[in-house]
Amino acid sequence: MKRLVEDTGLFILSVVLFLGGAFLLSLQIPFWSMVLGIASVQIGIVLIILTFDSLIRKRNKPLTEDYKTVNCLICRSSQFVPKYQKTIICDTCMARIAVGFKATAMVVFALITVTTMTVLVGQNQELRRRAAEIEKVYQCIAGQWSPDSCGCGVWQENTICTEGRSRLCRDGDSYCCLWQENIWVCYTSNVDK
Ligand SMILES: [Zn+2]
Repeated sequence: MKRLVEDTGLFILSVVLFLGGAFLLSLQIPFWSMVLGIASVQIGIVLIILTFDSLIRKRNKPLTEDYKTVNCLICRSSQFVPKYQKTIICDTCMARIAVGFKATAMVVFALITVTTMTVLVGQNQELRRRAAEIEKVYQCIAGQWSPDSCGCGVWQENTICTEGRSRLCRDGDSYCCLWQENIWVCYTSNVDK
């Protein structure tokens, strides 16, 4: 009974870790959902494997009980079981299931690891590429700018601005910029309308 409680606890913990990790991954918080989600999913998988191992190992029954025979649910071979037990999966089938499950879990584990590495490396490269591109295209013009972030930017085709020139500023927003006396004043196109 104590063992059953321990195994059940371990199993619930592993499933909670696994699902919690999957949930964290689905949130797509930069960095943390990746790091914590992956760790949690992987610990979950390892715990599930351990639980199965421990279940298999603890299937020896005390010989003092009253026994009867029941056919294994999977291979139909007849098995001795305590008389209160109505169904049985024999040790051979149980081991086969566990081995199959472990193999599947290992494949999932490996897939998650490889996928994460690929995604992280890919994201990193994409970020660097984008940063390099922005540096290349944006031009910084000396002088007074309002806001300051428009000092660096790129002039664009004037499609939205009723006055002034359209400029994509370094903060990533499009502005309409007017030369006023000795300062460039830039408004967001929404405000300008
Ligand atoms: Zn069997």
